[in-house]
Amino acid sequence: MARIVMKFGGTSMAGTERIRRVARIVKRQQDAGHEVAVVVSAMAGETDRLVNFCREANSLYDPAEYDVVVASGEQVTSGLLAIALQALGANARSWLGWQLPIKTVEAHAKARIDSIDAEALIAEMQRGVIAVIPGFQGMSEDGRVTTLGRGGSDTSAVAVAAAVKADRCDIYTDVDGVYTTDPRIVAKARKLANVTYEEMLELASVGAKVLQTRSVGLAMKEGVRVQVLSSFIDDDAPAADTIPGTMIVSDEELEGMDMERQLITGIAHDKNEAKITLTRVPDKPGAVANIFGPLAEAAINVDMIIQNVGRDKGETDVTFTVPAADLARSLDLLEGAKESIGFNRIIPDTNVAKISVVGVGMKSHAGVASTMFKALADRGVNIQAISTSEIKVSVLIEEDYTELAVRVLHTAYGLDAVEA
Ligand code: ADP
Ligand code: ASP
Ligand code: MG
Repeated sequence: MARIVMKFGGTSMAGTERIRRVARIVKRQQDAGHEVAVVVSAMAGETDRLVNFCREANSLYDPAEYDVVVASGEQVTSGLLAIALQALGANARSWLGWQLPIKTVEAHAKARIDSIDAEALIAEMQRGVIAVIPGFQGMSEDGRVTTLGRGGSDTSAVAVAAAVKADRCDIYTDVDGVYTTDPRIVAKARKLANVTYEEMLELASVGAKVLQTRSVGLAMKEGVRVQVLSSFIDDDAPAADTIPGTMIVSDEELEGMDMERQLITGIAHDKNEAKITLTRVPDKPGAVANIFGPLAEAAINVDMIIQNVGRDKGETDVTFTVPAADLARSLDLLEGAKESIGFNRIIPDTNVAKISVVGVGMKSHAGVASTMFKALADRGVNIQAISTSEIKVSVLIEEDYTELAVRVLHTAYGLDAVEA
């Protein structure tokens, strides 16, 4: 007997037919003797639809009321799954975020989970009740509905798993595991049996949306065992306990089982960045601080930065990237600080994408970046900015070349699946 938290994403929950299939998968785990809690997403497309309603009502909407609106998508699916489970003869009930409660801190629309009161939940699970919990939502310190940021149901699932001390957190989605790159872009992407927390964290943070970045950070911190696997399976598919998907493991665990480790684990892309260039900034101490100070104060995350070779007359161009969603605000702030910064022109560009290669193997290997630059150059893809970390190299390119770049790099690092 084990205690399992199962999470089902939006595509898996899209419509009653799929919800019935999810109910069968859940029931099967309970029939195998496990204690089960389920975390669900809203139906695919529903959260976007609800976000649009808020925008239509007022583009400067109150984030607290936005949370009330967008959290409703998960309320619907949690109730529907409980109904579908009851139809199979299971004892199931839903617990909304405010009922458990899942207490959150910080801002509406991007709240962070502070604590989950799991005592009652554990008692019910031990009695054989299947707990169905809507992902993405919680309750603020003053008792209001909050949401965790897009893709947040993954984080809800990991947090519930940590709170009930689950043996495993299974994240069911529309692909059967974590691949060397998005399998929807590269047909030759290979499924990974294991990936380390550190690598998954880096991959998620540079655009591999299969797991929300925060869910991986939380799993790493709390030692939650996470498996990514498919919900699009037949009733006689191998059980989740046989680990048909991808396990997220610690570095030590992986070393024990994987002698032939690849240099590069995976490649990710992110089209949600925007580039800003400020021309003719004074080339003197303090100039860069004047640019990034106002952005930092507004909690805008600056990612890649390049200061170009100085022009004549002690001036230089500075280029950097911000999340595309923060572009308008960034331009506004920079215009406002034009005098103190002292630039000439501001040039925004949203037609960019960030391509990243990730792998712990690069800690001990030289030449990873040069392979990347050469492979892209050979295909005529121009690199506009570069950033690196210990286990990652990222480049900024023109957005139209995204798919080509990912494919070319996948081949260049020898990641392509060998055809059967
Ligand atoms: P869910 O609705 O279940 O949360 P998401 O759409 O958030 O699902 O995440 C699953 C998607 O992530 C897949 O359909 C796939 O296109 C994408 N994806 C991106 N990178 C990867 C990767 N390296 N491995 C697997 N899937 C990936
Ligand atoms: N429904 C939310 C979203 O679409 C949360 C999630 O699915 O993880 O962002
Ligand atoms: Mg998701």
